[in-house]
Amino acid sequence: MPPFPEAAAHELRNSQQRHNLHKATRTIRAKRDALVAERDDWEQLRLSAEAIKNDTLAHLDEYLLQFEEAATAAGAIVHWAPDAESANRIVARLAVDAGADEVVKAKSMTTEEIGLDRALAAAGVDAYETDLAALIVQLAGDVPSHIVVPAIHRNRAEIRQIFDKNMGAFGRPAPDGMTDDPASLAAAARAHLREKFLRAGVAVTGANFAVAETGTLMLVESEGNGRMCVTMPKTLISVVGIEKIIPTWRDTEVFLQLLARSATGERMNPYTSMWTGVHHAEGVSGEPVADGPEQVHIVLLDEGRTDVLADPAGRSALRCIRCAACLNVCPVYSRTGGHAYGSVYPGPIGAVLTPQLRGLHSEQDRNLPYASSLCGACFDACPVRIPIPHLLTHLRSKVVDAEPAFPPSPERVAMKAASAIFERPAAMGLGERLAGLAHKVIRGGPDANVPSVPGLAGWFGSRDVAVPPPESFSNWWSRTDGGTRDGGDVP
Ligand code: SF4
Repeated sequence: MPPFPEAAAHELRNSQQRHNLHKATRTIRAKRDALVAERDDWEQLRLSAEAIKNDTLAHLDEYLLQFEEAATAAGAIVHWAPDAESANRIVARLAVDAGADEVVKAKSMTTEEIGLDRALAAAGVDAYETDLAALIVQLAGDVPSHIVVPAIHRNRAEIRQIFDKNMGAFGRPAPDGMTDDPASLAAAARAHLREKFLRAGVAVTGANFAVAETGTLMLVESEGNGRMCVTMPKTLISVVGIEKIIPTWRDTEVFLQLLARSATGERMNPYTSMWTGVHHAEGVSGEPVADGPEQVHIVLLDEGRTDVLADPAGRSALRCIRCAACLNVCPVYSRTGGHAYGSVYPGPIGAVLTPQLRGLHSEQDRNLPYASSLCGACFDACPVRIPIPHLLTHLRSKVVDAEPAFPPSPERVAMKAASAIFERPAAMGLGERLAGLAHKVIRGGPDANVPSVPGLAGWFGSRDVAVPPPESFSNWWSRTDGGTRDGGDVP
């Protein structure tokens, strides 16, 4: 995958995709804004969520052990996976031991992150996505473009073609006469997936939250496919990032209110499934019951998360609840889509989370913190108040600090010069007078821009730099006593 600037340039040329993205993000954003506006206590909810997550991250080791103890007491088996490779190995072994040659999957970015489908295929197990958007992506041989709506870059006509062409290769083919009407497409997907659910002995899910005090996993979704996964197969395997822990059951009250509104613009998501260990052999009246999985495995995944936790400035990214609100408001994401980021987590959160999880080793990951205009809309939208613009600049400084000092880049030379000038008032005054001279040298009206400078054509090619005004601000301030005399118009 090329670095973001090249990948983004390629994606920007796809006008159909740009149209689809613009339409979809605008629609979700409008729904989210309307429902957020209903809540007088929205800011209070955000502050509460931030505080809960910060407390959890500060004591993550204790909460993880508490979760393991509670889940184990309820009959689940907890596995610890330090990295993607070990998580994949554990899941593949569990599936093979259960005698499965196929598994059904509920949508899970965590399993995308670790490349679970490929690992299962290598072990002779086919993985079938059951979320509608994830199914579209899988049938198209594509990768997700959005955290909540993986197929956001596709329109209905494209989806009908994908179903028509590829569904048969994965199981039940699309019915004759299927149209691009949403009901017709949903009916085709439902019939296709029903076969999978009825046959599957093993399901693989992620989890939105893991409650430490009870050992409960929670899955939030819109279609009910996730609930089918956690109730029908006999073996349930959940791959859960260690940052998904929340301390108490009571804390879910805060997150469930924030998540649905932020993610899909709904007051409450249609399906919230919770499971604590295996099903109990007896119902409340002592009668035998047999619903729910007989074996529950929970794979707690690190994969770079403890490294992120170790950085006091960067760890706030682990508060993320994957609502994608930051993607939907991002002017960069809404034009490029998710593929340009070369990461399972695209958009603003991907630009800060991925380079932290993977490290700043590749050119691709070093470019991600620059995939932003720093407009700050992502922070305003984020329900857990992750200061994404601050994280971006934090990571940019790490990228710059890691660059070799020799030969110095033109930016480094320019910044050193600027820093030397800003530190010396006399030099600053001289610089202001010279900037004022530029006004006389460069012809044009008040809105004129500095033309490109030799050697900096790339920098000027994407920026308009206004010609400096004839009088500097500090001169104007002294002359007008802070704007109180001589008219006081700002130069
Ligand atoms: S960073 Fe915030 S807005 Fe973006 S996905 Fe995570 S929780 Fe949602």
